[in-house]
Amino acid sequence: MKVIIVGGGMTGASLALAISAFSQGKVQVSLIEARLPNKAHPGFDARIIALAYGTCQQFNQIGVWHGLKKYVTPITNIHVSDYGHAGAVNMYAKDYSLPALGYVVELQDAGNYLFEQFKKAPSVELYCPDEVIAVERTIEHVSVKLTSGKVLTGKLLIAADGSDSMIGKISQIEWQRASYQQCAIIANILTSQVPQGQAFERFTQHGPLAMLPMSKGRSSLVWCHPLENQQSIMQWSDDQFMTELQKWFGWRLGEIKAVSERYFFPLLLSQAKRLISHRLVLVGNAAQTLHPIAGQGFNLGMRDVMILANIISEVANHGGDMGAYSVLMQYQMQRHDDRQSTIKLTDNLVHLFSNNHLICAIGRNVGLMAMETLPLMRDILAHQAMGRSFHL
Ligand SMILES: Cc1cc2nc3c(=O)[nH]c(=O)nc-3n(C[C@H](O)[C@H](O)[C@H](O)COP(=O)(O)OP(=O)(O)OC[C@H]3O[C@@H](n4cnc5c(N)ncnc54)[C@H](O)[C@@H]3O)c2cc1C
Repeated sequence: MKVIIVGGGMTGASLALAISAFSQGKVQVSLIEARLPNKAHPGFDARIIALAYGTCQQFNQIGVWHGLKKYVTPITNIHVSDYGHAGAVNMYAKDYSLPALGYVVELQDAGNYLFEQFKKAPSVELYCPDEVIAVERTIEHVSVKLTSGKVLTGKLLIAADGSDSMIGKISQIEWQRASYQQCAIIANILTSQVPQGQAFERFTQHGPLAMLPMSKGRSSLVWCHPLENQQSIMQWSDDQFMTELQKWFGWRLGEIKAVSERYFFPLLLSQAKRLISHRLVLVGNAAQTLHPIAGQGFNLGMRDVMILANIISEVANHGGDMGAYSVLMQYQMQRHDDRQSTIKLTDNLVHLFSNNHLICAIGRNVGLMAMETLPLMRDILAHQAMGRSFHL
């Protein structure tokens, strides 16, 4: 019983380990990844992401949280504000009796750690660096051809190959895609005050700006700007960048002392019109790619991982066919509501907070002030940040 996962980024690597853990090694996993984790890796690049509390619990269920914990920085409170307006909201982990609302991790550290774990998972066979160049699906099986010349055959093919999924494309999957006409700039920032677990989300006229606490007293910046400004921002010197950032972020962490190299990511919303096809399923960014405003992309992908790994392991335990269409339908149905609501929430936030119209600015600030005074509204936002659904 074999499944083939194409793409060993955060989603594919986590999925391989989840299937191995849940099926107790019964399901053989072939994981194909084009590149070894390093700075030039498309999945484990310089990005730093926030793992929701729920995601960390899921890592715990697949047995990797204990080790991964060494590489993370806890977020103990989140401060949300709007540039030039009074409204602000604070969420504290202690209000929810939690050690943290979430944790920040450097993707390179996470990638290296997850790849190390494959050595302890004998049912996972890693093909890296190698690349899938052709796919053949028959009634009973699916085969892939790799650049190395190897041919692998299994019952199910899982596309975890990211936003531009080649596996999805050659399998006639269609996506609904829309550019936000924004780019995200990421950089590491050193400030005169240590963030001490504080994360900030601030809405500026350019676009939203997030500062997440990270190792060595630094913060990780994600700052969204209109795409048309990318070329000129790329020309900014370190000093000019720090001056602009200080102006828009303010002095909540004191003086901005240093900035690292900057990386730029174009932002889009991409959602596959269906998650399954004959002996094929899509997960993570291949299934949906979100704007980073609410830090939901991988957290949503991890929920794809958990549902799919559970379904596959359950079927395998009963000797069933893991690639049968009825099995894949279960996955598509179980992912529907969470997927739709997270995509909608994220997209709505982008439009609300990218709009400088006075009515929107007033609405945002009334909302932020209401959240500060109405615990129920704040709880809904906090639960989203923690990666939990909230039931009224
Ligand atoms: C600026 C920014 C900030 C973000 N912040 C957050 C955050 O705070 N929280 C959060 O949850 N998410 C965040 N995200 C989203 C998160 O980074 C992604 O959702 C996640 O990393 C996607 O992982 P993935 O494995 O699905 O896809 P990818 O990372 O794209 O991985 C796909 C992998 O497939 C491999 N591949 C592709 N084709 C082939 C092939 N033919 N053969 C073999 N291998 C192949 C590639 O080499 C790659 O490693 C952020 C994103 C951005 C851009």
